[in-house]
Amino acid sequence: SDHHLDYPKSPAHIDWSSHYPAFFTSQTTEESTSLLSSTREDTKQSLSISTKSSNLLIDESLIKSQRKVEFADLGCGYGGLLVALSTLYPDTLLLGMEIRVKVEEYVREKIHALRLQHPGQYQNISIIRMNAMKFLPNFFEKGQLSKMFFLFPDPHFKTRKHKARIITTQLLAEYAYVLRVGGIIYTITDVKELHEWMVKHLNEHPLFKRIPEEETNKDPVVFHVSQSTEEGKKVERNNGEKFLACYVRIEDPYRM
Ligand code: SAM
Repeated sequence: SDHHLDYPKSPAHIDWSSHYPAFFTSQTTEESTSLLSSTREDTKQSLSISTKSSNLLIDESLIKSQRKVEFADLGCGYGGLLVALSTLYPDTLLLGMEIRVKVEEYVREKIHALRLQHPGQYQNISIIRMNAMKFLPNFFEKGQLSKMFFLFPDPHFKTRKHKARIITTQLLAEYAYVLRVGGIIYTITDVKELHEWMVKHLNEHPLFKRIPEEETNKDPVVFHVSQSTEEGKKVERNNGEKFLACYVRIEDPYRM
């Protein structure tokens, strides 16, 4: 279903201001980057003469426009996690990534409605239609993300379909690239076999280390990972079991 998807040449080719208009000024990123550096200079100069608060305000709004997506929800479905984390992390940009046309449309409209109903809120969440298994480094720079979510991914039970799973050795290399050192991958599923598959591949990867349960229990995000998505709620209603595994991106042990 991704035959008609266009891929951005690079993260800089995506119009992020259309996703998070409140976080961007009307200038293009390039303009605001040069403006930012010149404003900083000006601000420094004027600060040395007087402490004009207007300069500081301009500076702040421009800095805001330099913000980048930090949390990515891959295969976000109906967007329950985005909505839940939006108010918990109001200054962080969150992006849902979803392959299904109708689902992406639904979430986009939901976010639009939330923004209208709650002025000033839900400005930090958005969704993009894409195949999360393709060209992720075209969407995010190296080390840009601090959290990646893989919540109740499609299980692809048949052996010949295993290569379609969202956690594979090859894809983990891409996730390690876009995730910064110290960043966290959250996985959860109600399918025990898929959980074991994800744990096995993550354990085998040199750039990820499992976070012990005592620690994940203290992470405020984990509650939402388990309870806030539509799939998580469905599993809850059916009294299904949920298997959680969180991994931290570690420094490359082979790097000199
Ligand atoms: N994470 C959501 C939740 O917990 O409610 C949705 C779970 S649903 C079982 C899996 C979602 O992943 C579906 O919405 C599906 O369309 C999406 N998906 C599957 N493969 C994908 C891919 N390669 N790229 C982006 N989304 C994908």
